[in-house]
Amino acid sequence: MDRTAQVVVIGGGVVGCSVLYHLTKAGWRDVMLLERRELTSGSTWHAAGGMHTLNGDPNVAKLQQYTIELYEEIQTISGRDCGIHLPGGLMLADTPARLDWLKMAHARGRYLGMDTEMISVSEAKELFPLLDERYFVGALYDAVEGHVDPSGVTEAFAAAAQKAGASIHQQTKVEELVQRADGTWDVITAQGNVHAEHVVNAGGLWAREVGRMVGLELPVLAMEHMYLLTEPMPEVAAHNAANDGRELVGVMDFGGELYLRQEGLGMLMGTYERDGRPWSTRETPWDFAHQLLAPDIDRIAPSLEVGFAHYPAFAEAGIKQIVNGPFTFAPDGNPLIGPIRGLRNYWVACGVMAGLSQGGGVGLALANWMTEGDPGLDVWGMDVARFGPWATMAYTHAKVRENYSRRFSITFPNEELPAARPLATTAIHDRLTAANAVWGAAYGIEHALWFQTPGEEPVEELTFRRSNAFEVVAEECRAVRERVGMIEISNFATYTVQGPGAHDWLSGVLTNRMPAIGRMTLSPMLNHRGKLIGDFTVAALGEGDYRIFGSGVAEDYHRRWFTRHLPADGSVALHAEGLGLTGLSLAGPLAREVLASVSAVDVGAASFRFLDIRPMEIGLLPALVGRISFTGDLGYEIWVRPEYLRTLFETLSAAGEPHGLRLFGARALDSLRLEKSFGTWAREYRPIYGPAEAGMDAFVKLDGAFIGRDAAAVEREAGPERRLVAFTVEAKDADVMGDEPIWLGDEAVGWVTSGGYAHWSRASVALGYLPTEHLEGAAPDAFEIEVLGHRLPARIQPAPLFDPAGARMRG
Ligand SMILES: Cc1cc2nc3c(=O)[nH]c(=O)nc-3n(C[C@H](O)[C@H](O)[C@H](O)COP(=O)(O)OP(=O)(O)OC[C@H]3O[C@@H](n4cnc5c(N)ncnc54)[C@H](O)[C@@H]3O)c2cc1C
Repeated sequence: MDRTAQVVVIGGGVVGCSVLYHLTKAGWRDVMLLERRELTSGSTWHAAGGMHTLNGDPNVAKLQQYTIELYEEIQTISGRDCGIHLPGGLMLADTPARLDWLKMAHARGRYLGMDTEMISVSEAKELFPLLDERYFVGALYDAVEGHVDPSGVTEAFAAAAQKAGASIHQQTKVEELVQRADGTWDVITAQGNVHAEHVVNAGGLWAREVGRMVGLELPVLAMEHMYLLTEPMPEVAAHNAANDGRELVGVMDFGGELYLRQEGLGMLMGTYERDGRPWSTRETPWDFAHQLLAPDIDRIAPSLEVGFAHYPAFAEAGIKQIVNGPFTFAPDGNPLIGPIRGLRNYWVACGVMAGLSQGGGVGLALANWMTEGDPGLDVWGMDVARFGPWATMAYTHAKVRENYSRRFSITFPNEELPAARPLATTAIHDRLTAANAVWGAAYGIEHALWFQTPGEEPVEELTFRRSNAFEVVAEECRAVRERVGMIEISNFATYTVQGPGAHDWLSGVLTNRMPAIGRMTLSPMLNHRGKLIGDFTVAALGEGDYRIFGSGVAEDYHRRWFTRHLPADGSVALHAEGLGLTGLSLAGPLAREVLASVSAVDVGAASFRFLDIRPMEIGLLPALVGRISFTGDLGYEIWVRPEYLRTLFETLSAAGEPHGLRLFGARALDSLRLEKSFGTWAREYRPIYGPAEAGMDAFVKLDGAFIGRDAAAVEREAGPERRLVAFTVEAKDADVMGDEPIWLGDEAVGWVTSGGYAHWSRASVALGYLPTEHLEGAAPDAFEIEVLGHRLPARIQPAPLFDPAGARMRG
């Protein structure tokens, strides 16, 4: 089999076959799939086949919806039976909090076009008579749910791809991957080699091994998973008979941590037990195929007991089989897809824990990415770049186990999960802990969320409503607006860009003109389609010497893009500083006094202007100080090497004391930026929005020659289809959290990107996107935003609530 191919997909599970099919659908014909045994030899063959649209991330939910809708298409094209059953599904709530969560999911689904319905327990009982009403308080019904035959689906993807020209070689294990100097790959197998332009790791249970072939340690871990099948049950037959043969709806029982569906004339019941077991923690054996693991009934007995109570008919049913099989998870339970930084033409599509719900969407996004250079959809929540090198094997194990055990638990919008923490901390971690910090973590780094009142326990109550942080965060905001606050900013991403080609290169990847030396500027970054893939502060420190400050969680995502576009001639060196550069920010009307008291240079308004940046001595220390603050107030960002951070903290704390300096955390920063209508990465700014839509036109200089310029010009010329808008919301005890629908009459016309309570302005605030036509056509107070099942009046806020002229920031 010595030959060439444009793409070799490694792995013939449902995911690999979906990628193959979507590549052919995108028009690539010279594509090949290699499978070491037969198709479905990993997790796929023993999957329960259930499919759902619900997902905590609405963009992933959208791809799940696409997956379910795709099955008819591949069944028709391939002529293979996918075993599609769409009886609908119930999500059962056992507590008011779970009901809130379902209401939130229901609301979020609205603008995605999902037609779910909140129903009562007795309505749920009519749809699923096996349940005991006493255990539930309400339910969400989704008509577009059901199950498929996993092998049938995989075969259908494969056959449809083959019809379009793809080739599939079974019994062909990829042994080795060798990259040539031109970036193409030699794919080595015992049956001969393939010279391919691209390779895709869809190795499923062996994704780690296929990663290791190129020196990559992917953050995936397999967990054992069990479900049981019953003998035929008379209750099931009776329901079918009474409903013209209609199958029972599927059920997700969150309190019971169970899922159920009809299988033949019996039932299938699966559980994500608390005490889950990882499988093959370090290496997946190559001789594993089409095998099951020994069931461990003791482990799932507590769940089954709950199941028998919630669904009494099960107690009488005979158990036909217990299936135990392994499948893989990423640390947050969402797939890992995309290209890998620094590894040209190596793509991953793995860690897919719900292949039958997500496989189609994963295949579509990856095929778009490979053929068009962009996934074309918002796949931020699935992008492999959301994990950096800090996601070690031990981290992954701890997080996957946590995630598995919490599969049916509510994650509250203000919840920070404890596993694998602390991972990365800075030198002032103990100082902030001593100040009663409540900690959060992002991208592996601990950051203070807020500072609990001394003497009180630094714990935030978990709720969809305002928590015990509310009043304290209000005080932190007040300190910033009235006096001066200090926040650690070490978790921002910082890049050093140096070299003779730095100016021109930056001008080619960023949309704004580069600042003069000693100055900073804001600049978005666009992809070739003119969509936002970053927003940065760029600082010019000298000739060919720049710093870029951006979102911490997007560090690997941005590095991947930067690295890919660096000039080949070595004229530009890029270095991601990580925690090699740490910092504190002072913000508030007295910030200048504090800075002046520890600096020998003149930091007066005229000599150190808004957006100035310069090296400065702060007390004993060498620092880099920029006059900018995400609070929208007078403020400074002070950057130092990590060995100085502790002394910097002591110095500024002491200098700030006479001015009433108070520590503030991420919650207060969010409140402060919201009243300035400042957008933020991964919320307002994502790769589905153009700069004109996001209100960033001022930072996009169309006379430049940067990536995405032409598309941005078209967007500006035509006028944006939607716009980022700020609202004030008549909220009472629950503010928007993000992803809520914005209603105009009976139509969900837009969606919220983020929101919360703006303490200083005493207003509940939301930012979100609205179609331009509604923006122009409707009265500013004609809108409503749905929060926890209630539509709250929302008024468009044309100017920032705080300091609309920017006098404080610039003064
Ligand atoms: C008990 C159980 C119940 C489940 N229930 C559901 C459910 O109800 N709904 C749902 O959506 N999901 C369910 N799943 C999860 C689902 O099975 C997985 O999400 C899905 O199978 C992942 O598919 P995959 O293609 O990524 O991986 P896999 O199915 O593991 O496929 C990977 C393939 O790659 C091949 N391969 C690996 N390395 C090489 C190599 N070097 N060369 C060539 N070939 C290679 C393997 O042989 C294998 O065939 C369940 C899983 C289990 C275990």
